[in-house]
Formats: sequence, structure tokens, C-alpha cells
Amino acid sequence: MSTEQPMAMRQIVVSSAEDIRVERVPWPDAPGEHEVLVRSRLVGICGSDTHACAGKHPFIALPYRPGHEVVGVVGAVGPGVSDLAEGDRVVLEPNLVCGKCRQCRDGRYNICRELAVFGCQSVGAMADAFVIPRDRLHRVPDGVSDELAALVEPLATPVHAVRRAGVGPGSRVAVLGAGPIGLLCLVAARAAGAEVVVVTDVLKNKLERAQRLGADAALDAAAPDLVDQASRALGDGADVVLDCVSGQSSMTQAIELVDKGGTVMVVGIAAGPTTIPLHLVQDREIAVIGSLMYVHDDVRRAIELLAGGAVAAEDLVTATFPLERAAEAFAASIAPDQLKVLVSVAGPG
Ligand SMILES: [Zn+2]
Ligand SMILES: [Zn+2]
Repeated sequence: MSTEQPMAMRQIVVSSAEDIRVERVPWPDAPGEHEVLVRSRLVGICGSDTHACAGKHPFIALPYRPGHEVVGVVGAVGPGVSDLAEGDRVVLEPNLVCGKCRQCRDGRYNICRELAVFGCQSVGAMADAFVIPRDRLHRVPDGVSDELAALVEPLATPVHAVRRAGVGPGSRVAVLGAGPIGLLCLVAARAAGAEVVVVTDVLKNKLERAQRLGADAALDAAAPDLVDQASRALGDGADVVLDCVSGQSSMTQAIELVDKGGTVMVVGIAAGPTTIPLHLVQDREIAVIGSLMYVHDDVRRAIELLAGGAVAAEDLVTATFPLERAAEAFAASIAPDQLKVLVSVAGPG
């Protein structure tokens, strides 16, 4: 390591929505074999974080130390790491997997039986630095800014969902919910060749963003005739509905919107059990399937899309707060006028 390490570093601890603070913790140990020490630069606040701090995430226990949407700079590499060097910019792929279970062996490690997510079930990256195995990092191309790189992880989720739903050239797609994931589903569906993409939300500013990002129609999800409006815009039923809300009303709409033989993809984190009209699922051969995170190829594709200009950082990033003001960043991230909120880690060294 070229520079002397400080003894302590800053790390965010979330105990509740009202109790989010900066803690001083020991600087991480030097990276071990095949590990890398990364100095965080920008860390996004995810929908899963806002659910978690409200105590509403089914799989994140409080208190927790967040940060999984991170772009940073390699600070040091451990023995056996030869393809990354100090100063390289990297993004994190935060799924921590066993590598041995059937799902891992099949390449579907995003649903590893032992899955833990860095910054959800382990100490995260909303800190000055963290240590992670080399194989969880992806290099950021030079033309991609830090702000844009912070969108790699959020875009990888839609890339995976869109791929798994079979969206391709000519597909008619409806996206329910125009938060960051919904808007990036629009981007990913377009990139996959979708012919028509209709987006719904209850908030006007989000619909305007959807329109700017190229939605064929951006519709009020609360309109009583939403299904008629959406069907007209789609020219028919949807081949694929991506439900990024995963509530009762969005799921009811999804089943009404999807064409016979189509697919409803559950992308959003559901708060709990939801009623689905099973008689229609059976009678119309509707596939209702879920999508969780992503694998390497999806992350690589997300980087490629961002490097190719599929979306600009300012299309999604609405605010950036310094690490010391992480509590404000969390509060802002649930405000209706915000989309993606970032935390900037300007290190003490
Ligand atoms: Zn996330
Ligand atoms: Zn596994």
C-alpha cells in the first residue's frame, strides 16, 4: 500500500428510519488471498435499503450496515490478484454465494441456497472502505463516470428480469412502477428490442421521466380505465408485464394486462402474500415468475449498456449527499420527487 492507512474509518449504521448514524470502526485488515480492498466513492440507496430502514424488508434485520450499489477505487490487492491494481475503478456485484449448491453449479448463483447480499446480510460499502473477493468486482470502463457506474448494480436487476421474462425483438411490454428499477426496466426492455413499452405509476414526475426515457405511453396507474388505456397503447395485451411494485393492485393489473400465454415478472419486493386470480393464470396459460438480482453476464451487459449511452446519470440520479449526511440521504430517497439518491464518500485520505 502506497499511503499510510488511518486507524479508523467511517461506516454507516442503520438502526431505524430515525436512527441512521456514522460510526467510527477499525480500518479493514489488509486484503487476504484473492481479496481486494476498495475505497468507496459513491454508494446508491436502493429500494431494499428504504424497505429495510423502515423495518419492512423481509430478509434484512436491523441494525444493519448498508451499501451494495457502490463504485470505488482499488486501494490494495491481496496475494493472487493480478488483474486489478491500485487506482482501478470498480463496481461491486454484491451477491455472496456458496459456489457448491445445485443453483450455483447451474450458474444461477443469484438464487444460491446460502445467498447473502453484501450490505444487506453482511457489513456493506457505505463506509470509507471494504474488503471483498476479487470475483465480486467488475472494472469500470474509462468513459463511464462514477455517477453512471453507480447505476450498474440497479441496471443489472432489470437486465436479468428482462432476459428471464424473454423480452426480445417485437415484444410488447408493460412496466408497472416508474421508480429507478421500473425506469431501468424500460431501458433494458428497449435494449432487448421491445417494440412497445408502456410504463405506469401514480406520480406525475416519474411518468414524465419515463416519457423522456422513451416510453411509448406513460400512464397514471390509478386511472380507473388504466387497463383499457394500456391495452390501446400496447396495441393488444402485453407479452410481458414487469411488476416493479408487487402490491395487490399492481398484481391485479398485471394479470389483466398480460396477453394469453404471456409472462408476469415479479420484480419488486412484495411486502407479503398477494392474491392472484389463479383461474385466469390457468385458463390463459399465464406464467407468473420471479426475478432476483443477477449474475455476471447481466452485470457485464449493464456496464455495456451504460458505456453505450443507454441512459444518462441525470436521468435517474436526483440527489447526492456526503457520507456524514447519510441520514438525510435515506430520508430523501423516499421523497416522492426523488429517484436515485447517492451517498458520496470523500475519504479522509
Ligand atoms: Zn440494490
Ligand atoms: Zn450456492
